[in-house]
Amino acid sequence: MSDDPHFVDSTRSGGTSRTLRMYGRRDSRDAYALRDYLTRSVVSYEWTEIETDLACYALTGQSLHDAALPIVDLPNGSRLVQPTPAEVAARLGWVMRPQHREYDLSIYGAGPAGLSAAVYAASEGLKVVLLEREAVGGQAGYSSLIENYLGFPDGIRGSDLAERARQQAIAFGAELLLMRGGTHGEFQGDRMIATLNDGTTMISHSNICATGVEWRRLGVAREDELLGLGVFYGAGTSEAAHCSGEDVIVVGGGNSAGQAVLNLSAQARSVTMVVRGADLSATLSSYLVSRIKNRTNVRLALNSSVTELLGDASLESVATIDSHTGERGLLKARKLFVCIGGAPNTDWARDTSIERDHLGYLVTGPDLSRAHLRDHWPLERAPFYLETSVPGSFAAGDVRRNSVKRVASGVGEGAMAVAFVHRFLSEHFV
Ligand SMILES: Cc1cc2nc3c(=O)[nH]c(=O)nc-3n(C[C@H](O)[C@H](O)[C@H](O)COP(=O)(O)OP(=O)(O)OC[C@H]3O[C@@H](n4cnc5c(N)ncnc54)[C@H](O)[C@@H]3O)c2cc1C
Repeated sequence: MSDDPHFVDSTRSGGTSRTLRMYGRRDSRDAYALRDYLTRSVVSYEWTEIETDLACYALTGQSLHDAALPIVDLPNGSRLVQPTPAEVAARLGWVMRPQHREYDLSIYGAGPAGLSAAVYAASEGLKVVLLEREAVGGQAGYSSLIENYLGFPDGIRGSDLAERARQQAIAFGAELLLMRGGTHGEFQGDRMIATLNDGTTMISHSNICATGVEWRRLGVAREDELLGLGVFYGAGTSEAAHCSGEDVIVVGGGNSAGQAVLNLSAQARSVTMVVRGADLSATLSSYLVSRIKNRTNVRLALNSSVTELLGDASLESVATIDSHTGERGLLKARKLFVCIGGAPNTDWARDTSIERDHLGYLVTGPDLSRAHLRDHWPLERAPFYLETSVPGSFAAGDVRRNSVKRVASGVGEGAMAVAFVHRFLSEHFV
């Protein structure tokens, strides 16, 4: 994989460091977005906090007040000032144009389900393109350690698992288009035309939607304003190293929150886990419950919700309420990680004949409603198990109604969806 432009790795450079270097202010939303993106993309980088005028003059020739930060120094010696993750990805050569005008299969979302579908489709000879609007790995990229995925008895970091799958898909010949998201779908017989976020279109004879879920928000005042300035969505894999000696808060009672607590508590002085329910075991796997209870620097705030985020330029403290006693609490913390599940990424299907349930999940196969099938389904045969109400358009992983929400089930559904794609294509193109 030495020509693979995805990797920027100091181990591959034959001596000269090819590590990316990043400089920025401590509480910087832009710097966090870059760290988060690079961590999930398995790129090695060095982060330096610029805290004094002296350091800032040495780096930029300007004072801390005037300088445009963050700065990214690329391995090839070029410097990017205040870049977005998309700009860094483009400068690293990851943002490509499609190689073909039409594909047998287009897959949207490069989480476990989409990556698995790409591996199986490409290995079985389909002309396949995988489109990802952000970073490869999806939610799994936020996991500090996946311990229940078959074949990894010591666990594996989610981003490492995804990086392996990415390499596997590319090796089989799948095309990966990063920073490309589907925004709308149109179905013309056996041609699916997706409009992408850059205004271009993607044409394929079948598609798999593996767009997963988006983090759910707390829904409290100042959440947007403090995003990246102490408030983070997800498990904070890139931030754990910066929590040393801090008191931090994790909101949520599910497995992703549990993993975040374990990961952060290894660095932080204390972690408070704010959970709406009365008992962790109702929502958390038992191996995580026992480990959390064994951590002496973890405090549980059960029956509790966050009501207010407080601070001037960045988060300073968090107000909570106990739903049983009505008691209000105030927790001092400069970092809060929100892990309260998510809502499906299916806006692209809004004006199509694809059936979604009341929460927006894509309905497939046996779950499709009779009324919807009567009005929209055009074929004699019944929809395949992972097929939506549009023939040839499939859904796999967390985005699907009644999905299991595990890495293994996403991977399994990705592989299964490809088997149905073959059956669909053979009905139309053989
Ligand atoms: C912190 C954390 C820890 C977890 N730990 C475990 C664990 O230990 N074991 C386990 O089994 N499960 C775990 N899970 C759950 C598991 O990660 C998910 O079930 C799994 O990632 C779902 O895979 P997916 O491919 O369906 O969707 P996702 O992983 O959500 O991936 C969807 C992808 O689609 C992309 N996308 C969205 N919209 C578009 C669009 N319009 N166009 C193109 N791309 C788009 C997104 O950017 C994303 O990359 C964890 C989840 C989290 C958040």
